[in-house]
Amino acid sequence: MKFLDLAKVIIRSGSGGGGAVSFRREKHIEFGGPDGGNGGRGGDVIIEAVQGLNTLIDFRYQQHFFAKNGQHGMGKQRTGKDGDDITLKVPVGTQIMDEDGVTVLAKGGNGGFGNLYFKSSTNQAPRRANSGLLGVERTLWLNLKLIAEVGLVGLPNAGKSTFLGETTNAKPKIADYAFTTLYPSLGVAQIDDDQFVIADIPGLIEGAHEGRGIGDRFLGHIERCSVLLHIVDGTSESIGQDYNTIINEIDAYGSGLIDKPRITVLNKIDELDEDDMDFALSALRGASGGSPVLAMSGGTGEGTAEVLRKLVSQIQIVRSGEPEERSWQP
Ligand code: GDP
Ligand code: MG
Repeated sequence: MKFLDLAKVIIRSGSGGGGAVSFRREKHIEFGGPDGGNGGRGGDVIIEAVQGLNTLIDFRYQQHFFAKNGQHGMGKQRTGKDGDDITLKVPVGTQIMDEDGVTVLAKGGNGGFGNLYFKSSTNQAPRRANSGLLGVERTLWLNLKLIAEVGLVGLPNAGKSTFLGETTNAKPKIADYAFTTLYPSLGVAQIDDDQFVIADIPGLIEGAHEGRGIGDRFLGHIERCSVLLHIVDGTSESIGQDYNTIINEIDAYGSGLIDKPRITVLNKIDELDEDDMDFALSALRGASGGSPVLAMSGGTGEGTAEVLRKLVSQIQIVRSGEPEERSWQP
């Protein structure tokens, strides 16, 4: 599965049905008068933002979305049936654009009036009826703004890219989507029945919050994550210090980043024997104030499933506490 963040769709609203020209014809009734019904309204094209969707992948398989036309009006004052609307479901955070900027609308054409509508005191037998208005067709770009639910943080070389490559479809640095240079690496992780997007934000390094390094531009993306995964290199000689460096960065950045749920994981345990591991874990627990610390090897995959499950349970807590519409800014 690829993470798709840009898709092109062609939408068309339904045309209105034509109005009918018809006259009442019954035995023994002369000059029955007009009874042509109106045409039905064409269907609208509607775009709905839904929670829980993470990609625009569906739009690779279906690109045309045509709402139904309204039916023509009929005699005996029968109105044509309205055309069904069609709804495109997109992830929250999707921008919808045409050449002019942000657009959403493709309104269905109104149905035409039947000749009954044109009856008046001076014209008792109009032969006139409208045809329905045509639907609108337009080509739109759907552009999914990042909604990674997990943001990776950690010092350079902690193993963030390796973890992303191991647990998701992402090929860090060989991204599948367009505009690679504009986006941090993203991948969709899957564990049990859950899917979520992980973002590896490059360059969260000392001073990034001051605009130094390439990290700053991406920190805004991390602000929208539900949870941060802090990866610490278990082979480092200075685990406690490494941990605190990142925490200080997150704190200094502000914007409530420090209050975000955070999971800490000791990485590269494939390189550690039992003693090293005990030492490293207690160093990390000490630094993190006794909060839960997991252990894994992003390189071999050992322990990564538990990390993903822990992330899922944290994401679900955040999701369940969320108002219906997540606040989102372009
Ligand atoms: P990043 O800078 O945090 O993205 O770190 P990378 O994923 O690029 O990894 C930095 C180095 O650590 C690379 O040489 C990786 O091969 C190595 N590395 C990453 N994860 C592991 C691991 O779990 N075990 C071992 N032994 N090496 C790892
Ligand atoms: Mg990296």
